[in-house]
Amino acid sequence: MKTVLILGSNIGNRRENLKRAEELIEKFCGRVLKRSSILETAPFGVLNQPYFLNYGLLIETPHPPFELLKLIKWIEKRTGRYPTYRWGPRVVDVDIVLYGKVRIETPALTVPHRGLKDRDFFRKILNELLN
Ligand code: ADP
Ligand code: MG
Repeated sequence: MKTVLILGSNIGNRRENLKRAEELIEKFCGRVLKRSSILETAPFGVLNQPYFLNYGLLIETPHPPFELLKLIKWIEKRTGRYPTYRWGPRVVDVDIVLYGKVRIETPALTVPHRGLKDRDFFRKILNELLN
């Protein structure tokens, strides 16, 4: 299935963090078909924290949605994410933005991702990847 992931980092060496996450995604989640440009974005929700670097990957994954979610949570951990608080700073955040045309609405997984409604850069990255 073709799926779009958006990655973000706002702690430490952000580019290095993203690169490590992408390597793990490529290895465990599926082949990277396309990569968006990297955007610097203001923090969302909780404002007194560093800016994020964000970008998106279009990948081809053999994993069903909840398996993919497990994998990305594991990758977030491996790349050094430690739990902070909602919308708080993070070494690496990986979100599943689209999963083919599948719609899922559960607390643990909502696709298409809610960020498409309220974050301009989500739509910007998506446009880049799907065009
Ligand atoms: P956010 O990405 O909203 O800043 P988190 O990364 O901490 O915050 O995510 C919180 C929870 O959101 C995760 O534990 C995950 O189960 C859930 N979640 C719901 N939909 C998605 C999705 N599409 N992609 C990733 N996580 C999601
Ligand atoms: Mg997330």
